[in-house]
Amino acid sequence: MNVAIVLYTSDLRVHDHPPLRAALSSVDRVVPLFVRDRGIDAAGFAAPNRLAFLADCLADLDRALRDRGGRLVVRSGDVTSEVCALAREAAAHEVHLAAGVSAYAQAREEHLRDALAREGRRLHVHEGVVTAVAPGAVVPAGSDHFAVFTPYFRRWTELPPRAVQAAPRAVPVPDGITSEPLPARSAVPGVSPGVPRGGETTGRTLLARWAAGGLHHYLGSHDDLAADATSRLSPHLHFGTVSAAETVRRARAADGPDAEAFVRQICWRDFHHQVLAARPGTATEDYRSRGDHWRTERDAGPEIRAWKEGRTGYPVIDAAMRQLRHEGWMHNRARLLTASFLTKTLYVDWRIGARHFLDLLVDGDLANNQLNWQWAAGTGTDTRPNRVLNPLLQARRHDPQGAYVHRWVPELAGLPAPYVHEPWKLPGPERARYDYPDPVVDLADGLARFRQGRDRAQDA
Ligand code: FAD
Repeated sequence: MNVAIVLYTSDLRVHDHPPLRAALSSVDRVVPLFVRDRGIDAAGFAAPNRLAFLADCLADLDRALRDRGGRLVVRSGDVTSEVCALAREAAAHEVHLAAGVSAYAQAREEHLRDALAREGRRLHVHEGVVTAVAPGAVVPAGSDHFAVFTPYFRRWTELPPRAVQAAPRAVPVPDGITSEPLPARSAVPGVSPGVPRGGETTGRTLLARWAAGGLHHYLGSHDDLAADATSRLSPHLHFGTVSAAETVRRARAADGPDAEAFVRQICWRDFHHQVLAARPGTATEDYRSRGDHWRTERDAGPEIRAWKEGRTGYPVIDAAMRQLRHEGWMHNRARLLTASFLTKTLYVDWRIGARHFLDLLVDGDLANNQLNWQWAAGTGTDTRPNRVLNPLLQARRHDPQGAYVHRWVPELAGLPAPYVHEPWKLPGPERARYDYPDPVVDLADGLARFRQGRDRAQDA
């Protein structure tokens, strides 16, 4: 009997899963394995909101495998040691794994390949499972990755899409392999109240509903903060409960400008993944240093705290930060505004904001989070690195009636539209009725400090 292990990481599904299909076509029995990796806990990446969503994903994956005659095996510890131990136990000669992009994932592949090879076993790493297009599948002349989105998008669009693979009918698992109990969502402390349910079943339902409904209005409404008219597929794409390649195929089938705009956003996801794959250090270091002397907790502690708590005195910023804390998710436009506010208006190090987002986001993803933060801070791939988003103009444009603010900042209930984004402009006695802080920074002062910081860096 030939046995293979399929090591699950960010690809927690049975549909469109090339490692599972490849293993099943090469051996008689497979062991679907998930390792609760201590290295990920130690790296500070195991945030409660994601652990809760992950618990749902594992339970659903186990159910899907059981429907096919198999089951999920869960172990915890060091991922390399656990895989090697299980390979010995199950007499598995091959291990299948989806390629990852982070430094951690790249090191994991290397350690696994070496450790398995020492015991005469093989690691098969499958590209293009986590993203729609594999990092490195399109590259510009003379470089290993695209540094600018638009030319990447053009080449990415020209690629013939990968065929989507059906879920296997049967997943035969060898007898006698033990598993730890599946982690339970209810056992995770400190989860935000609005964190959605995870799992492939929920993800596929969401995708089907989105393709039949919201997708067709995406272009006109995706930036409307109150409309909440985006797909909310991001946690499913992050955990791989929905396949990025299948999502692109389903969207393209709809055709038209809405589908095109949505597919473009999925391409942004691939774009950031190919940057991180080529430059894994950009998870913590500037992609393009601007010589900033960022402010940190040392000199901007109260402002950073106000930003995290949603008490900056700028209602649209505060609404967004409270949505993040409550749901473990934030609207893309709001992510752009809050990131620009922290890095440009308060001139605070992007790493502080990125860390806070990773502590709360259910879709918190090293490639998307760190490189979007760098984009907002102007140290990343933005071709206009000194652009500053004015929170008042943005709020008037993307939340004209203040409905988003009213949803998340109840202290301002009843405040009429002209003042909802600038409560400090209310006449004195009126202002006193609202228990809401004054702005932590004057926008013109913040802008001047940022420009001075960048000018000084350029002169140096
Ligand atoms: P939709 O608008 O429905 O878009 C569909 C999918 O496209 C998303 O699910 C996502 O996978 C992808 N996408 C959309 N916008 C972007 C983008 N700007 N960059 C990369 N991919 C995109 N996204 C994450 O998945 N994880 C993160 O940790 C993350 N951190 C971010 C931090 C900052 C500062 C900013 C500005 C953006 C960040 N994003 C992140 C990107 C984006 O905000 C979210 O993907 C999006 O809001 C998720 O909602 P949705 O699924 O409804 O998106």
